[in-house]
Amino acid sequence: MKVELENLFSIDESNQDQVIKVYNRYGIFIGAPEIRKRNLKASFNPIFTLNEEVTYEQVAALYKSLERELGIVSIGERFYFDFSDSEYEQAPLFTLNSTGNSPEMFVDDKGTLFSISTYCQHCGLMEKEQLSPIVIDTTEMKDRHLVHVSGYWIASQELVALMEQEDIKGYELLEVIHQGTEEGKQKAFQIIPTQVLPQCSNERVKLYFATEQPPCRCGLSGVINGPDIYKNEDLKGLTGDVFYSAEWSHDGRYLYRKTLFSRKFREIIIKNNISREVRGEKDKNFGPRDWLFDPVLLK
Ligand SMILES: [Zn+2]
Repeated sequence: MKVELENLFSIDESNQDQVIKVYNRYGIFIGAPEIRKRNLKASFNPIFTLNEEVTYEQVAALYKSLERELGIVSIGERFYFDFSDSEYEQAPLFTLNSTGNSPEMFVDDKGTLFSISTYCQHCGLMEKEQLSPIVIDTTEMKDRHLVHVSGYWIASQELVALMEQEDIKGYELLEVIHQGTEEGKQKAFQIIPTQVLPQCSNERVKLYFATEQPPCRCGLSGVINGPDIYKNEDLKGLTGDVFYSAEWSHDGRYLYRKTLFSRKFREIIIKNNISREVRGEKDKNFGPRDWLFDPVLLK
């Protein structure tokens, strides 16, 4: 697995060589950027790999130099985790990160009951407990097989039938409540994993954005977690295909637990043409209806 960092900012085109020199001075060798002119500024989006030679501490120092020497502030940052083919081939479990490179994979909650409590006094993250079935306008699912509703996965009847037919195990179903017009409504089901995975290994990569507020002391806000990584022995003897992670994730406001699926589940989705096989966000196959599964790493 490789961690890549993308920087996004605008420069005056005449500054291009100087900007590249500053990167080089910090041991980051990037080519001339693809210049896309907007007004008098050019956007600059270098992507480079972080490793022992190029650490994030160096990058944070680089930002200070760019600001001091060239007046460049507000640098956007984006991390990518790039997995090797063997990591895809060996992973027993996958984290489902997306069911389509499109806003249509998200459907709005229309009034599910939750009990909400504060989880962290410092950053204000909240914990929520679901008290009713999920309420959505099921016509918004259209012909999608799996949509995301505020931290939960909602499956179509066809997907549920396929999961049953293929003997996928380790979940319960809770039918959603439809709210909206009668025409075009459909049955849909929340997938609720019945098992929680063991804790991730403490070797999991944890990152933060130097250009944003430092991470909160709760260890959640402001922390970018790398891929799920497990001790091999902890996953031995695991049965079933659908799991919650032990660790909390959050959407900036509420905590939730990520859902992980077995290799078998991923293969069924690809075999039945529900999604093409996608390897990473930058894969050309990651279209509006394709599912992005990241492999868990073993150590
Ligand atoms: Zn916090």
